[in-house]
Amino acid sequence: MSKTRIGIDFDGTTADVNAVKSRWIESELGLLMEPWECNRTHCVPAIGEETYERMAGVVYEEASLMATPEITGFTDAIAGLRERDFELHLVSARPDDLLLVAKQWLRGKDLVDLFTDFHSSDGTSKDAICQRIGLRALVDDDERHLTSLSAEAILIQHGRYQPPLDLPEHVHFCSHWDAVSEVLTRLFR
Ligand SMILES: [Mg+2]
Repeated sequence: MSKTRIGIDFDGTTADVNAVKSRWIESELGLLMEPWECNRTHCVPAIGEETYERMAGVVYEEASLMATPEITGFTDAIAGLRERDFELHLVSARPDDLLLVAKQWLRGKDLVDLFTDFHSSDGTSKDAICQRIGLRALVDDDERHLTSLSAEAILIQHGRYQPPLDLPEHVHFCSHWDAVSEVLTRLFR
């Protein structure tokens, strides 16, 4: 039986860069934002594009990323998914050079071998990647990648306990990785 291929985002889904952004915003701007509010879609309207890019330039780079922990529950969840015959693909909007830094982070945590392949959606879309390599689901912390997705869309916003009011009906909302595992098991068992 062929394995079920699923895509997993990196920033805010695998590595907890949103918590790092939240702390940067508080110290640099004096604003309090929850980590789940720190993806691009929520954050740019709050702090502006230019400030967001300045922050991203710090948070996504090697020095900051290497000190960034995983999203709670990530390692256990993906190890469990691999055991249940899911094939995992990392799908990130990072350009290729920053995708290498993400791979380095995974290698440092002994997680790189859990992924079959690594894909940058820079210059294309995550949906295009899903279609090209036959991903059946995408797990992402930013709804902009999920709103018009041909695969099953799973929104993880760690620590957010109320789903967004305007969440499209096809998007499965999860507050933590255990819930992501449950949704994937239910969809593909
Ligand atoms: Mg993300």
